[in-house]
Amino acid sequence: MQERIISYDPCTLEPVGDVAVTSPESIGTVVERSRKVFAEWSSLEHDDRRIVLRAFKRTVLARGHEVARTVASETGKPIGDAYAFDVVTSLTVMDHYLRHAHRYLKPRRAGSWPYLSTRGWTEYHPRGVVGVISPSNYPFFLSMIPAFTALAAGCSVVLKPSEKTPLTGELLGHIAGDAGLPPDLVQVVHGAGNVGAALVNQVDAVAFTGSTAVGKKVGETAGRRLIPAVLELGGKDPIIVLDDAHLRRTAQAVVWSGMLNAGQTCVSVERVYAVDAIYAPFLAELDRALEDVAAGTDDRHEIGPVIDQAQLELIEAHIADALAKGARLVRGGRRVENVSGFYYEPTLLTEVDHTMAIMREETFGPIISVMRVADEQAAVEMANDNRYGLHASVWGRDRSRAARIASRIRSGTVAINDLDVNFIMPSLPFGGIGDSGLGVAFGPEGIRSFCYAQGITATRLPISTSALLGARYPRRRGLRYWKAVAQALFRW
Ligand code: NAD
Repeated sequence: MQERIISYDPCTLEPVGDVAVTSPESIGTVVERSRKVFAEWSSLEHDDRRIVLRAFKRTVLARGHEVARTVASETGKPIGDAYAFDVVTSLTVMDHYLRHAHRYLKPRRAGSWPYLSTRGWTEYHPRGVVGVISPSNYPFFLSMIPAFTALAAGCSVVLKPSEKTPLTGELLGHIAGDAGLPPDLVQVVHGAGNVGAALVNQVDAVAFTGSTAVGKKVGETAGRRLIPAVLELGGKDPIIVLDDAHLRRTAQAVVWSGMLNAGQTCVSVERVYAVDAIYAPFLAELDRALEDVAAGTDDRHEIGPVIDQAQLELIEAHIADALAKGARLVRGGRRVENVSGFYYEPTLLTEVDHTMAIMREETFGPIISVMRVADEQAAVEMANDNRYGLHASVWGRDRSRAARIASRIRSGTVAINDLDVNFIMPSLPFGGIGDSGLGVAFGPEGIRSFCYAQGITATRLPISTSALLGARYPRRRGLRYWKAVAQALFRW
């Protein structure tokens, strides 16, 4: 009998469904089918593709509640959050590319100085079969962004969702079929890392979202095969609170971001640097903002569980390490008792420093760690003292100063007086640097990741530019001629 993956509700640890595992040996056949449909899909006119993709968007809208229910059942997050951050966010990106893909992929004229007898332009052609490998924290959104972007670029897709949230991936495949997408244009395969690895070994491009450790393995295989890989990886996102920040608003935003999805958001605040002048009142505001937040299973609770036992143990290890090295627990710091799910109390830590794992490694839990720094210069240095670089934010009433500081932070995205919004702004590039990844999603760069850029030149004259330059045998131009050309063109 075929092996199956069981999906569990992390609130109750009860099974919520199962799917058949795809054998790694069958991935070659899956990709072959994908390659066949790619040939047809990529040859369609953009407008014809758009009609099909608009139907996909409308079907997601019509079945949004079902998507949110499925996401909530596998991740334990409140269903309203699942609708907002898996369904609405997906629709935002789908809508963006339906409006702009054509413009982003239009041939672009290029200047041809100094060879004016030639004109040149860039064309964007789809790569082929894109393997999308997605994580468990926003299982619909983070499958849909790369899948839809690749489709809009003219590619076909094989999706491997996280083995912790397979039902959501399966549903995405059904929705694509029900929306009228050609058979096999979006195929879903299931399994753990070995199935993902087999996929990376077969496809023409990869869009991977997940941990840095796995992303590096995916990048290695992609490098060996010389296929492009967009790697959206982990983060340890800092926020800088300046002396002129609106403390209550900042604290409320930090608590929202740090606790959303039980802290399991790649762009959630993990490190807070508050300058000395406002440190004490800001800490008091944070503590107050956390009073309204509790983890648990009934409607009065704001925070769901983390995804599994391993995640819970990682959080506990980071807290234990921090406390052993002198951190102070202001609130939280333990599992929620007398519940069966993987709940951890909203936690506020102070007196932290950069020797502690909690300030260096991604924790991915409902933890906010606050460090006192002397001034903005020290805050920037501390924010940059980390191997990740995904998202950051700067808070202060003087917007020009905050913007200047934002530009100095080594991070793929930065928000000023806000948090996490870059994740829902499909017109801007979204991606990390350092251990947070390679390449970007969203905007023109995001869709071009699934294309190869082809430079084309054409002579404007009856005689070609190379002939004009004298690039013919027997050679008529020698060293003196080329030196004169260089002087004439580049002396200024
Ligand atoms: P994970 O790395 O454990 O798994 C991600 C996916 O990779 C899963 O589908 C898994 O089956 C697959 N996989 C595992 N081993 C593989 C291999 N050898 N080859 C190919 N695929 C393999 O990540 P996770 O725990 O599901 O997600 C959490 C992580 O994702 C966090 O680090 C978080 O920061 C990151 N994340 C990043 C972004 C971003 O946009 N940068 C967004 C969301 C989550």
